[in-house]
Amino acid sequence: MTIEVGILGATGMVGQQFIALLADHPWFKVAWLGASERSAGKAYRDAAAWRLPTSLGGEVARMKVDEATPGRAPKLVFSGLDSSVAGEIEGAFAQAGHVIVSNSRNYRMEADVPLLIPEVNADHLALLECQSARGWKGRIVTNPNCVVVVYAMALAPLRQFGLKTSIITTLQAISGAGYPGVASWDILANVIPFIGGGEEEKIETETTKILGALKRGAVENHPLTISAAVTRVPVHNGHTGSISVSLEQRPDPDAIIAAWNTFRGAPQDLGLPSAPAQPIVYLTEPNRPQPALDVNRDGGMTVSVGRLRRCPVLDYKFVALGHNTIRGAAGAAILNAELMHRQGRL
Ligand code: NAP
Repeated sequence: MTIEVGILGATGMVGQQFIALLADHPWFKVAWLGASERSAGKAYRDAAAWRLPTSLGGEVARMKVDEATPGRAPKLVFSGLDSSVAGEIEGAFAQAGHVIVSNSRNYRMEADVPLLIPEVNADHLALLECQSARGWKGRIVTNPNCVVVVYAMALAPLRQFGLKTSIITTLQAISGAGYPGVASWDILANVIPFIGGGEEEKIETETTKILGALKRGAVENHPLTISAAVTRVPVHNGHTGSISVSLEQRPDPDAIIAAWNTFRGAPQDLGLPSAPAQPIVYLTEPNRPQPALDVNRDGGMTVSVGRLRRCPVLDYKFVALGHNTIRGAAGAAILNAELMHRQGRL
């Protein structure tokens, strides 16, 4: 059975990644594209500045871009909308009966909206039932900020050791800022110690919601305290995090590495089409992970971790890397929708 899907924000960095990842999807077929009035009415190939190394397939290339208004789209709609407009537009689509699987920040921290990483908190999907109280005929599910996916996945297997505090300094790719994003003058041969839109606050708050426990129909945030500092670096794709953690227990390094390498969740158990066989891979080489070498592991859906060592301030430190527009955006949303389909929620 084929399920028709729409893409809001289809012309952007994340929208393009949706189109590339859905080109050969066994369940989902792109049937509708929505973007701003700048793009509406144009053929997709004329509206989008295609920025991916894969070629743009014929059918989607010729498809006409629609306005971002509900009605003509299929029930399931992925969203890569700019956050300045996502709140209003996604709400209108949910009101009208669409299931929105969103990348934008607008609904992530709402108490009745799942902020989902299927390997980590698949049970949080039960929050969807609370959304009928909004009077919506449809639903909204979100995936986290692109750094948070990498960070929360690397921390999830350490919950068993009692996560207490963590410090993360990020090195984030240019593609994380959309297209055209950061001016070349600003980013070439440079590091920018600031990312707007509340990036550090998102890392500090979204991570504890994802790692939190669902109790009596609500998420109780994980008590972990986080301090985040972000930087933008001249890398095309791949957000890297230099991370320290303190733990209640005193596991040895081998126990931590084994926890990462054996970590599995609902996508692997259910054999979902976009599930990486091993969601977290620990690299033993002393100079890995690196974006140039490791970002596309298992189609960009695997998080690479390395350099585990003792931390003289907290207990351990390590490095984690993930693909920001695949595992951190479009691939994450597609995995969310696959899980919802398997659970009969579409
Ligand atoms: P982008 O390249 O700037 O694309 C933004 C998209 O939103 C475009 O399709 C644009 O359409 C559309 N849009 C803008 N204003 C609109 C309006 N008034 N009405 C309808 N559509 C409108 O941004 P991006 O990097 O793809 O990011 C998209 C979303 O995903 C953002 O919320 C971002 O925070 C989030 N996200 C991004 C990443 C990443 O690594 N890039 C990762 C995770 C989450 P036009 O082309 O017609 O202007």
